[in-house]
Amino acid sequence: MAVTASPEQQRLLLDVQALDTKLLQLAHKRATVEQVKLVQDLEVALGSLDMQLVAARTHLADLSLSQSKAESDVEQVRNRAKRDQERLDSGAVNAVKELESLQHEIVSLSRRQAELEDVELEVMQQVEESQQVLERLTNERTEIETQLGTVRAELTAIMADLDGQKSALDSDRAGLAADVPADLLAFYDKVRADSGGVGAAMLHRGACQGCRIAVDATELQRIRNIDPQVVVRCEECRRILVRTAESGL
Ligand SMILES: [Zn+2]
Repeated sequence: MAVTASPEQQRLLLDVQALDTKLLQLAHKRATVEQVKLVQDLEVALGSLDMQLVAARTHLADLSLSQSKAESDVEQVRNRAKRDQERLDSGAVNAVKELESLQHEIVSLSRRQAELEDVELEVMQQVEESQQVLERLTNERTEIETQLGTVRAELTAIMADLDGQKSALDSDRAGLAADVPADLLAFYDKVRADSGGVGAAMLHRGACQGCRIAVDATELQRIRNIDPQVVVRCEECRRILVRTAESGL
């Protein structure tokens, strides 16, 4: 059964279509806002940095323990050498064998101290390097967090703007749609859903503006004879063909 409506009501579909096209463009814009991807990328980077920071902090804590141990090792050997030296200097030890053994120990303790001080120095260097790594990662994290804050704020503003545009268009469309008979609107919505978002097109100078194909002479003649109240569809694209003064009929 053919859908019927007054020519004015049919022409209203073109205005509804113009708004629906804008709504479609808006939806596309929303789906392709580059800040969405940016926020995701920055969040991934932040997560990766957090893992690196945990590892770096653990490494530094381990090195700090090693450093304490190295310091205490040096301290022990130094104290023992000091005690030996004091004993030697005190003159309390007279036995030759004991003196020799004491001097021998002082020499070997001094060698041992030098070795342990090398270890201590190496650990200190590692601690310093680890602190630098931690500082670099912390700075990177701060930088990314700042970027993330900026991009998130941009995204919020963009989305708010798109939301505003959408609700304005929705309200305009609701106003227009109120004047279109419900069955015509439902028919238009169905055709639009089946035709990539364009449900109604003007017949303009003998061509369908939906598919841009010129209507052939026979079909044009047929359309001329159709009651203006009857809704016509394009033979090619099946969209609603709206007749106006510029249709070339
Ligand atoms: Zn067409």
